Amino acid sequence: MRAVIIGAGITGAACARALARAGFAVAVLERGAAVGGTSAMCEGNLLVSDKAPGPELALALHAADRWYALRDELRDELGPDFPSIEYERKSGLVVATTHTGARALKTFSGTQRAAGVEARELSVDDAGKLEPFLTRDITAAVHYPQDAQVQPAATAEALLASARRAGTEVLTGVEVTGAMRGIDGRINGVSTMNGRHGADIVINAAGPWAGAVASSLGVSLPVLPRRGMVLVTTRMPHRIFRKVYDADYVGATQSGDADLQTSTVVESTAAGNVLIGSSRQRIGFDDRLDLGVVREIAAKSMRLFPFLAEMQILRTYGGFRPYMPDHLPVIGEDPRVPGLYHVTGHEGAGIGLSVASADILRARILGEDSPVDAAPFTVDRPTLVPHLREMAR
Ligand SMILES: Cc1cc2nc3c(=O)[nH]c(=O)nc-3n(C[C@H](O)[C@H](O)[C@H](O)COP(=O)(O)OP(=O)(O)OC[C@H]3O[C@@H](n4cnc5c(N)ncnc54)[C@H](O)[C@@H]3O)c2cc1C
Repeated sequence: MRAVIIGAGITGAACARALARAGFAVAVLERGAAVGGTSAMCEGNLLVSDKAPGPELALALHAADRWYALRDELRDELGPDFPSIEYERKSGLVVATTHTGARALKTFSGTQRAAGVEARELSVDDAGKLEPFLTRDITAAVHYPQDAQVQPAATAEALLASARRAGTEVLTGVEVTGAMRGIDGRINGVSTMNGRHGADIVINAAGPWAGAVASSLGVSLPVLPRRGMVLVTTRMPHRIFRKVYDADYVGATQSGDADLQTSTVVESTAAGNVLIGSSRQRIGFDDRLDLGVVREIAAKSMRLFPFLAEMQILRTYGGFRPYMPDHLPVIGEDPRVPGLYHVTGHEGAGIGLSVASADILRARILGEDSPVDAAPFTVDRPTLVPHLREMAR
């Protein structure tokens, strides 16, 4: 069986690896450079802490186990000379700064605990023991030992390298422009700027551009870009030891609001830079630097970690999250075009959820039991159908 995967970001890389290892002849078609899209312009948090009980949390819990094993698998397979994916199970600390926020955080973490998440309520003093430089001006804190982190671009490269070792061909500078269809309506390949590629199945893993790719293949898919910005400080001795964020971040991820939202998310990299996020804004693919956004992110981060006021910003960067209006990724075959699969719409969790999504894809294609219930991620799920109808009008 031949599979064409559109997009060489972390989603395409994880899918290529999963399918090549299952015996498929895989070609990844990428219009730019490999790992040049959002997967190179993001952070690498592998979070369960920000997911409410439900399908996305189930996917994240499966992913958490997979990443733990993958760290060793990829290192053993690619050898010591390949750059490390910098997997670190550093844990997450979520804090509230208001009394309303404290109540909401305690209720939220209680529902997560009931769904199998490790979530420990801490006193302000105990939170301070975990993060000595954190402000004491907090009203609640919950510690999530399952949260981890990777270096996202290196991880996508590692998955792609592993896929290549399993026989995957990665063709860069190849833009997919349309579908080839058989007389039965089934997709049997794609057309590109450089010619045609026959395939038995086609996987749309084009991240924030997956809506445009779907449309070029003859179907609608309501994936929209959601801009996010991150500030990077100069290197410093480690003073932030976990992923620390304000509880209102969870509300921002689940909001459908197009207007600017910022919430404080702070972490250190292995090299000693501090990454400070983050913003969410639906402004199309507008990538101009907005100093108002930078100012708002910086100001909020200093409230959590006052010492940051003395630190220098080295650079800022941003990317486009693949946003779905019902806040769930799409993983599965498109009933409108047999043979066409979508794996996209992971918004701000596509690094963490990539390998788990690839597991579901593989199971769906091979007709095996899915490691996570796949029904909530189908293209024709009830929460997505109204958006598809709206697009068809
Ligand atoms: C600021 C920010 C912070 C984030 N932090 C996190 C985090 O901490 N943890 C987390 O899990 N997620 C995070 N995310 C989200 C994560 O980055 C994305 O969900 C993920 O990278 C999406 O990966 P992808 O492979 O689906 O898309 P991409 O990496 O964008 O890959 C899609 C590829 O498709 C290619 N393509 C598009 N059109 C075509 C075409 N016609 N033909 C061929 N190729 C095409 C593109 O060139 C691109 O390379 C963050 C995002 C942002 C913006």
